[in-house]
Amino acid sequence: MQGLSKMGLILARIGLNMILFKHANDLVLYLDKQRKSGLTIGFVPTMGALHEGHLSLVKQALATADIAVVSIFVNPTQFNDPADFEKYPVSTEQDIQLLEQTGTHILFLPAVSEIYPQGTDRVNNYDIGRLETLLEGSFRPGHFQGVCQVVERLLRVVEPDILVMGQKDYQQCMVISRLLQLMGWQERTRLLLGSTLREPDGLAMSSRNRRLNPEERRQATAIYELLSIIKKDIRPGSLQALKQHSSAWLVNKGFRVDYVEIASAADLSPIEDWDGETPLVALVAAFLHQVRLIDNMLLDKTIR
Ligand code: AMP
Repeated sequence: MQGLSKMGLILARIGLNMILFKHANDLVLYLDKQRKSGLTIGFVPTMGALHEGHLSLVKQALATADIAVVSIFVNPTQFNDPADFEKYPVSTEQDIQLLEQTGTHILFLPAVSEIYPQGTDRVNNYDIGRLETLLEGSFRPGHFQGVCQVVERLLRVVEPDILVMGQKDYQQCMVISRLLQLMGWQERTRLLLGSTLREPDGLAMSSRNRRLNPEERRQATAIYELLSIIKKDIRPGSLQALKQHSSAWLVNKGFRVDYVEIASAADLSPIEDWDGETPLVALVAAFLHQVRLIDNMLLDKTIR
């Protein structure tokens, strides 16, 4: 029993495993009670089709809070491409098993009408500044507004002490940090970032990898290769040639490239001339046929 969180102990004692909630109101009431008895809440929002990367975030929530809440909701308002939404992989039965095995306390599995009782039209416009138009923002117009819309709704239901998100979606982490600021919740909810889990050949784990055929799956590892090359080769001075060669290299490997960017790790502004000191992140978004993959790597030579 040693090492179990307070909530883990309670559930173990009454012989319960994970509790599934489908209705926001029920979850609000339940969590209110737990909060009143002094338990802290860690939250991991997901769109399901879970893999080890998601589970590593759940483990982080379990390690830092008493109750780990995971949501699975494929959010229609963040898909700028309807085909991407329709083809988004769903594996709820398997997800439930994985979450249970990982020790998740609560799964929130809402229908669209639970999240958007007034419909999916956007009422709020979130002022996320340049994040709106940079990189993902530029190639997926409206995407981050949809992300803010769903995450705000989920946060108001779960009211977590800890929110765990993956660095795999680097720009999204920055957007959510801004959202917490816009909500005035910086003190209330601590945002924790989980590092990117990778397959043995380096490909970042992603639900979308399931849509790759075997040939594409082999090709896909080139993104990690490229990020590693950039990290190894980067030198102070102009980055123009490195960026151009990187993009051409991916095209040569069969990708349709949205962007290869080297940017300030602090605010994602593109860096053209590097002073050798500003912390950098390299970010890639590229398609293999219909499947769009994203990845990034911090270029600090001490971090992998
Ligand atoms: P998604 O289901 O794709 O919306 O992802 C849910 C959460 O898991 C997000 O915070 C992602 O950044 C995170 N995530 C996705 N892939 C990985 C990965 N390979 N390693 C760690 N976290 C990940």
